[in-house]
Amino acid sequence: MKLIDEFHNPQKAYRLAQQIEEVVDQPLAFMEVCGTHSHVIARHGLTQMLPPQLRLISGPGCPVCVTPQEVIDAAIQLAREGLWLAVFGDMMKVPGSDGSLDEVRATGGQVQVVYSPMQAIEWAQENPDEQIVFMGVGFETTAPSVAICISEANELGLTNFSVLVAHRLIPPAMQALIAQPDVQIDGFLCPGHVSAIIGVHPYQPLAEQGIPCVVAGFEPLDVLQSLYMLAQMCRENKPQVLIQYDRVVKPEGNPTALAKMNEVFEVTTTRWRGLGEIPASGLRTRDSYARFDAQKRFALELKPVPEPPGCQCGAVLRGAVQPTECPLFGTACRPDHPVGPCMVSSEGACAAVYRYQIPTTTPSPT
Ligand code: SF4
Repeated sequence: MKLIDEFHNPQKAYRLAQQIEEVVDQPLAFMEVCGTHSHVIARHGLTQMLPPQLRLISGPGCPVCVTPQEVIDAAIQLAREGLWLAVFGDMMKVPGSDGSLDEVRATGGQVQVVYSPMQAIEWAQENPDEQIVFMGVGFETTAPSVAICISEANELGLTNFSVLVAHRLIPPAMQALIAQPDVQIDGFLCPGHVSAIIGVHPYQPLAEQGIPCVVAGFEPLDVLQSLYMLAQMCRENKPQVLIQYDRVVKPEGNPTALAKMNEVFEVTTTRWRGLGEIPASGLRTRDSYARFDAQKRFALELKPVPEPPGCQCGAVLRGAVQPTECPLFGTACRPDHPVGPCMVSSEGACAAVYRYQIPTTTPSPT
C-alpha cells in the first residue's frame, strides 16, 4: 500500500505534469521502449496529462510482438510434429501463418504454459521418452534464466530438452530505431527490467548521438518523473543516460546474470518483426551448448514470412503508426480475435490501447 500511495498520488502526478509542461518548449516525441510502460501509460491516462507538444510513441519492447512470424511458425510446426512444447502464456494466441499454438493444443498437441523455463526442465525429467522444446522468447531480462536452464540441462545430462532460441537485445534495436528516416525520436524511456540486467552503459552511444535516455520505473509517477527528466535534458540540450528507477537498477546492471548469459549464448544478427534484420541484436547458443538448440537439433529453417494481410504490427513496433491508425484495430483485430501479436500480448501496444482507451461497445469481428 505504501508503494501505491507513494507512486499513484494524483496531486503529485498533476504537479509533475505541470513541471513537464513548463520545460517542454518545442515539439518532442519520446519513445517508451518497454511494453509494460505502454500499458502503464494507457492504463493511467498519462498521455492526456501531457502538453500537446509532447508525443509518446510505443516501441518494440514487447518480446512476443517482435518475435517474427517464422519463429511462431517453427514452434507450431514442432508441436504439430509431436514434440512437446513449453511456452510462456502470451505465446499461445499469437497467430502464425496457419493457426496458433492454442489451436494446436485444442487439437491434441502437447503445448504447456510455463511460468519459468525451469518448469520445462522438470517436464523433460518427468517424461524421458518425449522431446521437450522450450520457446526461449524475451530480452535481456529472460535470457539469463534460460541460460541457467540450459546449463542445468547440461549438468543433468538431459538428452530430451532443447530451446528454440529467439532472444533479442534491446540497445541494438534502439540504435536501429533512431536511424529510421520517417520516425522522429527525441528521447527514450528505457526499460527498467532489461536495464536491471544490462545496466546503463549500453545506452551511452545513444546519448552521444544526441538522444537522452532515462531508465524508468513502472508506476505512474515513475513514468511522469522520467518524462520530466527527458524533457529537461532536451531543453538544456544536454543528452545523458540517467536512472530514475534507482531503487532497482544499478549502473553496472547484474554482472552475475550477464556472465551466465555470455557463458551459454553469443551475440548474432537476427530479424525483428517490423524492424527487419539488425546486426548484433540477437542471441544463439554457443557451440559448447549446441545440442540444446532446437533449431539445430531439428534442422529448422527459419525463412522470413510475410505479415498477416492488413496487419500494421511492424509499423506499430517501430513507432511509425499508432495502434488506432491500423485499419483492423478494434474491428477485425481485437483481443478475442487477434490478427497480429500486438493485440495478443499483455505487453502489446494495441492491446494496451484497446484495453484502456477504447469504449467497450466496439463492432463485432468481420
Ligand atoms: S490492430 Fe491488430 S493487426 Fe493492427 S497493428 Fe495492432 S495487432 Fe496488428
